[in-house]
Amino acid sequence: MVFEDFPLSEGVRRAVAEIGYTEPTPIQAQSIPLILAGRDLIGRSNTGTGKTAAFSLPAIDRIDPETEGVQVLVLCPTRELAMQAAAEVEKFSRYTPWVKVAAVYGGASMERQIHQLKRGANFVIGTPGRVMDHLRRRTLRLSALRLAILDEADEMLDMGFREDIETILSQTPAERQTLLFSVTMPEPILEIARTYQREPETVAVGSGSARTAENIEQFYFDCPMGRKMDVLSLLLAAYDPARSIVFCNTKKMVDELTAYLTEAGYQAEGIHGDLRQSARTQVMAAFKAGRTRILIATDVAARGIDVDDVDIVFNFDVPLDTEFYVHRIGRTARAGRSGRAFTLISGRRQFGQLRDIMAATGAVIQRQEIPSREEILARRREAFAAELAALVPTEGAE
Ligand code: ADP
Ligand code: MG
Repeated sequence: MVFEDFPLSEGVRRAVAEIGYTEPTPIQAQSIPLILAGRDLIGRSNTGTGKTAAFSLPAIDRIDPETEGVQVLVLCPTRELAMQAAAEVEKFSRYTPWVKVAAVYGGASMERQIHQLKRGANFVIGTPGRVMDHLRRRTLRLSALRLAILDEADEMLDMGFREDIETILSQTPAERQTLLFSVTMPEPILEIARTYQREPETVAVGSGSARTAENIEQFYFDCPMGRKMDVLSLLLAAYDPARSIVFCNTKKMVDELTAYLTEAGYQAEGIHGDLRQSARTQVMAAFKAGRTRILIATDVAARGIDVDDVDIVFNFDVPLDTEFYVHRIGRTARAGRSGRAFTLISGRRQFGQLRDIMAATGAVIQRQEIPSREEILARRREAFAAELAALVPTEGAE
């Protein structure tokens, strides 16, 4: 693959050729077409893999010469990184003269930055603190922003910029495109993604957080169309987990499933964002205490769950994203224990999604047969007999 393969503008391609890049790096090859297509993106790759060009080149082409105001905003964790990125963007935009770059970071003259901004900057690169300063002074307005980019997002969060980032994003148009680049993908980043991105595409290169823990046994069950609830009920009966979490993709499904399992006699409770905080706290407390054995949750609602001994994580719906899968199943096998993750699929499309997850995580997710009612009964009888034997010594045995 070469840069010529991308639908980048003539000016950008010329600049890239002059700088001497011939082949795009993997993160560039995967990200650039998605960004040009207007998609929101979560990009993960190690340091030194060319993330700056991965977002800068398409960002330059997202600038409309006919529109006034700041159209692209890049947030970087430090002054040095902001300066570096700005210098690169200057080079990349050498043949697209309508692109006007301004760098705003702390420890430098406010006056000069204001001057740059006033000159009609449409591509702003800065640190969250200084961007906030300019927003407060109204020397920077983001009402025309088309593209927001969080570079080195994990580092920005580590440095405590979360609130600033949220304030800044809240002052941009809701229909903006949002990109998030990072070396690692800890939970707070996924939270930002869930809150501020729309159906983000994930591009992950190399090993990193996409790896799942080794002490989790991962299986999938191929369910007949429309029969997932029955299969889940069978699995709960067969494996009889003391504590399990069932993940759904929607609040509606959480409600339906909770009703179904409760009806079927299980101690199950649902948790999702529509519940009041007090209700959520109660549900969590009951689950922690073991009064509720099955917790049914959306990805968002599950963020506060810190229960160590979850035996099985069920993916009732196939997660929409690999990171969600990794995060969901990370709820089991904590504190050195082992655990199981069961994913229910139905139909070819879901099988395809599962394969994508396997490819991205490198994990082996094995097919497992759905237990029959007879097997379950036999297993329960055995378990019951064992329990009895433990309680009542059989005759003849001493
Ligand atoms: P990251 O942000 O992933 O840590 P950078 O964007 O800082 O990485 O890029 C690291 C180095 O690689 C920079 O010196 C950059 O100029 C160079 N580089 C980026 N893309 C390419 C490419 N396609 N071909 C050659 N060098 C590249
Ligand atoms: Mg970088």
